[in-house]
Amino acid sequence: MRKRLIVSAASALSLFLAVPASASDFRAGTAGVGDSYYPTYGNGGYDVSHYDIRLKYQPATDELEGTATILATATQDLSRFNLDFALNVSEVRVNGRLAAFATSGDQELEITPARPLAKGSQATVVVRYKGVPSTVKKYGFTSWHRTPDGAVAANEPEAAWWWFPSNDHPSDKATYDVSVLVPDGNQVISNGVLAGTSSQAGWTRYSWRENKPQATYLATLAIGKFDITRDTTASGLPVYNAYSKDLGDNADAARASVERTGELVDWLSGYLGEYPFSSVGGYVPNVPTGYALETQTRIFYSPRQFAKGSNTSVVVHELAHQWYGDSVSLSRWSDIWLNEGFARYAQFLWSEHENEGTAQELADYVYASHPADDPFWTIKPGDPGPDNQFSSAVYERGAVAVQALRNAVGDEKFFRILKGWPTERRYGNATIPEFQAYAEKVSGKKLGDVLNTWLFTPGKPAVGPVPPGTAAAASLAPGAGADAGQLPAEPKSWKKIQDTNSAHETHS
Ligand SMILES: [Zn+2]
Repeated sequence: MRKRLIVSAASALSLFLAVPASASDFRAGTAGVGDSYYPTYGNGGYDVSHYDIRLKYQPATDELEGTATILATATQDLSRFNLDFALNVSEVRVNGRLAAFATSGDQELEITPARPLAKGSQATVVVRYKGVPSTVKKYGFTSWHRTPDGAVAANEPEAAWWWFPSNDHPSDKATYDVSVLVPDGNQVISNGVLAGTSSQAGWTRYSWRENKPQATYLATLAIGKFDITRDTTASGLPVYNAYSKDLGDNADAARASVERTGELVDWLSGYLGEYPFSSVGGYVPNVPTGYALETQTRIFYSPRQFAKGSNTSVVVHELAHQWYGDSVSLSRWSDIWLNEGFARYAQFLWSEHENEGTAQELADYVYASHPADDPFWTIKPGDPGPDNQFSSAVYERGAVAVQALRNAVGDEKFFRILKGWPTERRYGNATIPEFQAYAEKVSGKKLGDVLNTWLFTPGKPAVGPVPPGTAAAASLAPGAGADAGQLPAEPKSWKKIQDTNSAHETHS
C-alpha cells in the first residue's frame, strides 16, 4: 500500500496546536464500514446526511472538476476519517479549516481535520477535486462510461468513486443536490427532480435534487444530448425520461418500453404500496454496456436491453427496486436477495398480469429446468458471496424462494407482506433476518425452514416450490419431475425475463 501524503505547512501547524491533551481518546475512523463482502467499502466513525455535488464537465475531453460539500455527524470521537474516492483531490476543509489528507488503498481518502470531531458533533466537509474519470481504473475497471457525446456514471456496487467522494455503502443513505455545468447544447440527467437550469457565457447549469434518502450506488449522472419526455402518471407523479439522440435501431423499442414507466409504476403500487419518491423515470444513454440499474427515481438502461424489441419486463424489474432496494436498502451486501429476489418476482407478477405464465408456472420452470447437478444450485441466494452477488441464481432461485414463501403463508398473507414491508421500513435499511421476523409476524408462521431451504442451503431442494398437497408437488418429487426428463412447458415470458439477466453485470 503506497501512501501519498499532502499536508500544507499551515494545516500541519494548526493540527498540532489544536489538539488538546484530552484528545488522546480520539481515534481514526475505520477504512471500511465492516461489510464482509467489501471490507474497504464505506467508512467508520460518521454518518452522512447530505451530499451537495457541484461539478463542471467538458464532454469533449472528459474533464470533470468539482466541489463536494458533505454534511455528516461523528458517531465516535474522531481524530481522522476516510471517504471513498478515486479522482485527484486538491483541497479538503472540515468546518471551514484546511484539513490534511492522504490517499491509501484503491479508493481511500484519509482526512485529518485541524480540530478533532467529538462524537455527536456535526461536520461540514468540503472536497475540491478534478480528473478524467474514464482514465481512472480501480480494481481494473472504471464505472464512468464514455458515450459518443458525453459520459454516464452507473454501476453496482461501485459508482460514486469516479464523480464524488462519499461514505460508499448502502447503510449510509443521504439526500442529494447535484448541480452540473456543461457547454450549452448538452444536458445533464441525475436523480430526483430538476430544480432548475440557467445559462451564461456558453455554459448551462442543471441542478437536480433528490430529497429522500439515497444510497451512494443509486446516485447517477449522465451528460450528453438527449430527447426528453415529461409527463405525470394517472396518480399525479411526475415522470421524466431521457433518450440519447443516437440510439439507432434500439431507439423505438427503448421508447416503447420506458414510456410505459408511468403505467407500470402505478400498476406496481397496487402490489408494493405507495411509490416512495417524488419523481420517476428512466434514461437510455448510448453506452456499450448491457445492464440496467435501479438508480433512484431515474433508472439507467443500456440500449442492449431493447435490442430484441420492447421490454416492459426490465422496466418492471427496475421499478420494483424503487421499493425493494432503493427505499428499503441493504444493510449489508450479502442480503442482496432482498433486492433481486423481489425485483425478479415482480417480473413474475407482470408475466401473470400479461397472461404469459403465472408466477407459479415460472417458479416451477426454474426448478425443473436446472438438474440437481447444475452448478446453479450451489449458489445460496441468501449469501451468495461477492463473486456471485449478481449471479442468475440470485435472481432465479431468489424469485423461486419468494414463491415458496407465498405458498407457505398463502396469498392473502403473502400480499400483505409484499406491500407491508416497504411501508414499514420506508427510507431505511434492513437485513434478511429482519424481513423474516416481519413475515413471521404478519403470517403467524415460522418461516425458518422454507427460507433456509431456498436461500441458505446449497443443492437442489427435494421438492419444488409448490403448494403442499397439490398434484404438481407429486410430479416434481425426486425421481419424478424434471430430473426424469419431464420439463413443464416454457412460459411465454421466459425468454424475455432471461434477457434481463444481464441487469447487473458489473465491472463491464
Ligand atoms: Zn435488479
